[in-house]
Amino acid sequence: MERSFSIPISRRDLLKLAGVTAAGVVLSGSTPHVDAAEKISGESIKYANKKIPVVNYDVCICGGGPSGTAAAVNAARNGANTILIERGIALGGLGVLGCVYPFMDTHAPDSDTPYLTELKNRLRAKGIEPFDGVTQQTWHNPEILAEIHDEMCEEAGVNVFYQTVVVDSLTAGDKITAVIVQTIEGLAAVKAKIFIDATGDAYLARSAGVDYERGYEKTGNNQPLSFRFEMGGVDTEKLYNYVAIELQEDWCKSKLPYFEIAEAMHRKQRYKLEAFMARGVDSGELTQDEAEYMQAYTIIGKNGVMSMNCPEIPVKFSATDPVSYSKAVTFGRKMMRNIARYLIKHLPGFENAFISREAVMLGARESWRIKGKYYMVEDDYHNQSRFPDAVCRTAWFIDAHGEKVSEKLPAGGFYEIPYRALITDKISNLIVSGRCISASFILQASMRIQPTCISIGEAAGIAAAFAIQNGINANDLDWAKIPAHKRSYISKG
Ligand SMILES: Cc1cc2nc3c(=O)[nH]c(=O)nc-3n(C[C@H](O)[C@H](O)[C@H](O)COP(=O)(O)OP(=O)(O)OC[C@H]3O[C@@H](n4cnc5c(N)ncnc54)[C@H](O)[C@@H]3O)c2cc1C
Repeated sequence: MERSFSIPISRRDLLKLAGVTAAGVVLSGSTPHVDAAEKISGESIKYANKKIPVVNYDVCICGGGPSGTAAAVNAARNGANTILIERGIALGGLGVLGCVYPFMDTHAPDSDTPYLTELKNRLRAKGIEPFDGVTQQTWHNPEILAEIHDEMCEEAGVNVFYQTVVVDSLTAGDKITAVIVQTIEGLAAVKAKIFIDATGDAYLARSAGVDYERGYEKTGNNQPLSFRFEMGGVDTEKLYNYVAIELQEDWCKSKLPYFEIAEAMHRKQRYKLEAFMARGVDSGELTQDEAEYMQAYTIIGKNGVMSMNCPEIPVKFSATDPVSYSKAVTFGRKMMRNIARYLIKHLPGFENAFISREAVMLGARESWRIKGKYYMVEDDYHNQSRFPDAVCRTAWFIDAHGEKVSEKLPAGGFYEIPYRALITDKISNLIVSGRCISASFILQASMRIQPTCISIGEAAGIAAAFAIQNGINANDLDWAKIPAHKRSYISKG
């Protein structure tokens, strides 16, 4: 008997499929299912000596982080039959699975692209005000963000495949013909006209033979990994009174419920909590690595819970070596426990606190980056480069944790990111999106923040749909030639 492969489908696809029920599609109950994927596409392929089912889409997005989700929603809204493949069970990538919070401020004027504005409005509609009245950070709520992503995908007709891992790609000439995925049921192949690599790790691009870089060319190190977590039971008022009033720390400009504490010894910015953490090293309660970097933000809609931007794991652990990465998890968890213990014991407001959530995705700031048609470098930042095919603008500082920090542009300054940094000469139907686009280690340290990755994804989705509709290769497409009303960003030069 043939093995079967059941695929949950969107309402939009269900309507399409209604016309082919006679061809063997089985719909059961109120939850629509398609049995035997072969019957959708009428095909299966041989992979690793196994016959595996094939599904067909216009656009296949690998990775449902901030960038991939934006790409999927925008591809689908622009008419492409879209699949979004995510190895976790929530969309939002590091921002949700990795407990990375909040979206940083791009520091670039008018940088919000339409999808980003919509995300903020949807947060507001659910009672989460993302604007603290002072900074331009987007204070969200990870669980509500995941819900919003689900809703946006559902409304746009994106087929989200959760708990599905991209394991390989098949190529013919200069095209990716299919990605091989591992679903909860087994292997399957996804064919598409255009593929978007939003894995953060350029996994799809690398598997298809695209040139890449990893780490800092001067040291070979990746940016440090972090194992983020949340702590509940925090008396935020008591904490505020201690840090903002008693210690007179003026780092955080916003007021409760939008409150942040921070210290980072390598930055030598003399945060008031540096001495507090240094005392832990003196007493033997903390290691120097644990004391080096600590930051925590209140989470809107989760009273008494803080998002912990730490521990920062020493750079001897690599974001691109599977053995080292795995050891970093164990090492990082010990650091996390120790930091939490120290805060509970000594920091006013944390007396009754506890670890309420650990990230389910280790925080990789930087891993692999593609070499694309345009390679962004540090000069693009300092020269405030502009490009006719720009897909967004940003000015977040060069935040390379220890290697180079706090390189700031003058107020109002920004640089742009060209569509050519998303495409390669090697593969004609591939667009790369998010933190793994074509950029040097130092430039990536600026462009990697979530709002910028989201705007890149938004453009990638629009470009993919447009390229298909107009019979253009993704890597021949000129973003500047897409009609203005369809573009999410237009360079003003
Ligand atoms: C510790 C840390 C702190 C940070 N702080 C901030 C901050 O305060 N504010 C801010 O704006 N940004 C911050 N950033 C940066 C930001 O979170 C990331 O750069 C951003 O999330 C990148 O988005 P992305 O979509 O490119 O990739 P990711 O967020 O990494 O998402 C990639 C997605 O692809 C999925 N995936 C990967 N491989 C596969 C596969 N083979 N098959 C299926 N799915 C796959 C993953 O599960 C994930 O959902 C921080 C990053 C780190 C690590």
